[in-house]
Amino acid sequence: MYDITPKNGQFEMPALPYSADAINVISAKTFEFHHGKHLKAYVDNLNKLLPGSGLENMPLSEVVKKATGGLFNNAGQVLNHAMYFEQFGTANHDCTGPIADMIARDFGSFEAFQKEFEQKGATLFGSGWVWLSKDADGKLVITQEPNADNPLLHNLQPLLTFDVWEHAYYLDYQNRRADYITALWQVIDWQSVNKRL
Ligand code: MN
Repeated sequence: MYDITPKNGQFEMPALPYSADAINVISAKTFEFHHGKHLKAYVDNLNKLLPGSGLENMPLSEVVKKATGGLFNNAGQVLNHAMYFEQFGTANHDCTGPIADMIARDFGSFEAFQKEFEQKGATLFGSGWVWLSKDADGKLVITQEPNADNPLLHNLQPLLTFDVWEHAYYLDYQNRRADYITALWQVIDWQSVNKRL
């Protein structure tokens, strides 16, 4: 399962595992704001709110499950964005390996999975995230999570996510959220998703 461990009670800014100009459906300008400013602010706020919370030195997944209020919002957004940015890459764009077998088993086909995922991303009202997760029985499910929520809150193991907050796509796609969602399939590194199983 994907997680982040703090060092000396503080979380580091998750680095991009690729160059900001290498992901051809998301501009370097969007990375500059989305990763460099939005995520940076969530990390800074999380680190400010952690001391005295009783949740210091816990892995980020535990902070997300136990925190409330502002600490929850910032911890959730750090985990969500860390997983979002880490899943893109310049290789492994064909869905293969264990995740491909599970998708075929639980959705019938990769195309049927994509259709449901795109539909749930496009119809999420307001700000939030669409997720592919594994449930306690090992079955894959797609959920819509509002604001900073994460499937961990529903006892699901998160595997893949598309950020559908407007800040994720407005510079490149303006109001065309569905076009942004469709474009992201081209840049998923499915081996990074397999590692989260
Ligand atoms: Mn975002």
